[in-house]
Amino acid sequence: MKAKDIMHPEDAKAIQTIQNIKGIDKFIRMYMNMGYESVYRGENMANMIQATKETFPEIYGAFQEVVNIVGIREPKLYIYNDPVINAFTYGETDTFIALSSGMIEHLDIEELKGAMAHECGHILCKHTLYMTILETIKYAGTFFKFINYSLLSPIFLAMQYWSRKSELSADRCGAAVVGEECYQRILAKLASGMKHTSKFTRELIEQGKSYVAFKRASLWNRVQQESRSMFYSHPQLCVRALELDRWKDSYAYRELINTIKLDK
Ligand SMILES: [Zn+2]
Repeated sequence: MKAKDIMHPEDAKAIQTIQNIKGIDKFIRMYMNMGYESVYRGENMANMIQATKETFPEIYGAFQEVVNIVGIREPKLYIYNDPVINAFTYGETDTFIALSSGMIEHLDIEELKGAMAHECGHILCKHTLYMTILETIKYAGTFFKFINYSLLSPIFLAMQYWSRKSELSADRCGAAVVGEECYQRILAKLASGMKHTSKFTRELIEQGKSYVAFKRASLWNRVQQESRSMFYSHPQLCVRALELDRWKDSYAYRELINTIKLDK
């Protein structure tokens, strides 16, 4: 798989905006020189459990399958204790993927592959450098009061905007690996927190259409919604469901699905 196969055009545009921010290259160089990403390496070792063929053979086997399909260098896989359904990936030189226990308990193995493929999609699109920096800004902003959101707000908001767009590319990767229908089930589980969602996977897509219409109905609605979501790192779940529903009808999606089937 190539990054261009899954890269959402709004993701590509937003990352360009970040790269055009004055001084961003100096900031990244300084950040990498500080070796800050190693803090996550240490934290993972300290508080999570690494998934290997010995510790979690089924999950690790599924993970290796996904890594091969996406075609990236195998990152480390960790599992951490959190009932919230979640997963994340950070690291530029030593990349890892972490899955919450809530995610493993709520998703079946095929859906778990979709969630892992989403994270692999971030790595394929080279999102992890910016994701790690963004996470560090958030951490520094809340922990060390001398670096706060207002000081870094232009960079922070541009990165949060990009972050939301980057999720659309990662969703495409997940859907390409397990199929759009399975991936919609994951989004329904994320929205509801329920284990059984197979009956209402179209519901989120329909809600997405209603949400878009709601925002378009008035300037006030749009301003309200945009001002709430500008600090979000992820797009709203119904928007993600709708975006995928649109992409599934594209030639690019069908072509990618066929290539993956042929390679298997
Ligand atoms: Zn993501």
